[in-house]
Amino acid sequence: MKILLLGKNGQVGWELQRALSVLGEVIALDRHPVSTAYGTLVGDLSDLVGLREAIHSVAPNVIVNAAAYTAVDKAETERELAHIVNAMASQVMAEEAKRLDAILVHYSTDYVFDGTGTNAWKESDAVSPVNYYGATKLEGEQLIVAAGCKHLIFRTSWVYAARGNNFAKTMLRLAKDRTTLNVIADQIGVPTGADLLADTAVAALQQALINPELCGIYHLAPAGETSWHAYATYVIDFAQSKGELLAVKTINPVATTEYPTPASRPLNSRLATEKLRDSFSLHLPDWQSGVTRMLMEALNT
Ligand code: NDP
Repeated sequence: MKILLLGKNGQVGWELQRALSVLGEVIALDRHPVSTAYGTLVGDLSDLVGLREAIHSVAPNVIVNAAAYTAVDKAETERELAHIVNAMASQVMAEEAKRLDAILVHYSTDYVFDGTGTNAWKESDAVSPVNYYGATKLEGEQLIVAAGCKHLIFRTSWVYAARGNNFAKTMLRLAKDRTTLNVIADQIGVPTGADLLADTAVAALQQALINPELCGIYHLAPAGETSWHAYATYVIDFAQSKGELLAVKTINPVATTEYPTPASRPLNSRLATEKLRDSFSLHLPDWQSGVTRMLMEALNT
């Protein structure tokens, strides 16, 4: 089996390089052209012609798109590029997947919802993007569905990865120097590890390859919920319990309204995952287990 992976160096893309490798040959691209056995391949999602040619050249059985324009605030002003990368490139991948009878695996976001209420969003709930990034991600989903290809679209939220920077590491760094931290307490969601996103996609993909009726849109996040404030508190308590010397004494809960950003953020990022768990007989761990594992690596304990 041939798998074409786009966005190989992103948080999720990096974990997918590992997780997909047991399924077949993975041709993994970032935004720079690369010379391969299939010719020189373009993985830049803003080059729609080059992207289509790359898919033609590889003729994969599975296309996995981990690339996206993810600069949520910048997307408000860099609209054209965000739209091409998140919407138009998804359409190209979907059209090519349809032509090849391949499955397209794609990631989306809870930002397709308006973020109101306290219920966990279901796949069947009405969409109403909270910002321009969310609108481009929603259009990408819709273009994939309209193209009629086999697809697995995973909507997720609050993604972190062990590799590189993340919210937890930022909190630890700040807590070393500052006695007081102000952290948003009225946004509720679920921290989701890039490793879980990759491993779950592979588990679902294995089943969808055998049973294409499983294709569709799924919500994917660990069990439980938290606020950024409670998440920060969890991280700092854990680090202190492992002997980290931190200056921080107070973690103040603050409201989203105190931190205006160019793009609005949803207050309710909860995602209902029953459909995914039932369809694929999967268990999703609580969010603390992934965060703890990442912290153990970050703290080198
Ligand atoms: P990252 O920002 O870590 O990775 C995105 C990747 O896309 C980067 O490797 C980036 O490349 C690449 N990329 C951006 N523009 C282009 C382009 N024009 N051509 C090719 N590659 C490009 O994102 P995540 O791994 O966190 O996100 C994975 C998916 O999950 C995305 O679909 C995202 O929308 C979704 N998601 C993410 C959430 C989050 O909290 N991060 C929340 C909900 C959903 P480069 O490094 O060169 O810039």
